[in-house]
Amino acid sequence: MAPVLTEVRRLSEERRLRLTWSDGHVAEYDYDYLRGWCPCAGCQGHSGFKVRYLPPARPVTAESIKPVGNYAISIGFSDGHGTGIYRFEFLREICPCGRHGETPAELDG
Ligand SMILES: [Zn+2]
Ligand SMILES: [Zn+2]
Repeated sequence: MAPVLTEVRRLSEERRLRLTWSDGHVAEYDYDYLRGWCPCAGCQGHSGFKVRYLPPARPVTAESIKPVGNYAISIGFSDGHGTGIYRFEFLREICPCGRHGETPAELDG
């Protein structure tokens, strides 16, 4: 079974989100990093299937985290954007820890 998120914690000082997974994996995602990976159509446009990393114009804070069903979370950012649905498998794909084979840099573009 694919791992699911068991805990999402905001680390305000570090400006990061700490995600804990059902398989015991723990990883920390910068707010800006998550914002840059926003998978919504508004951010990504309609070019191709791959989600691209688009660095935010200015630093953001994750202000609210909401569960979406049992397969994703949505993140409301301080720039007013909150339409991105981050599926668990997508969050694993972009996991910044570098221990899942393909790195985020290789996914980009
Ligand atoms: Zn978006
Ligand atoms: Zn990881």
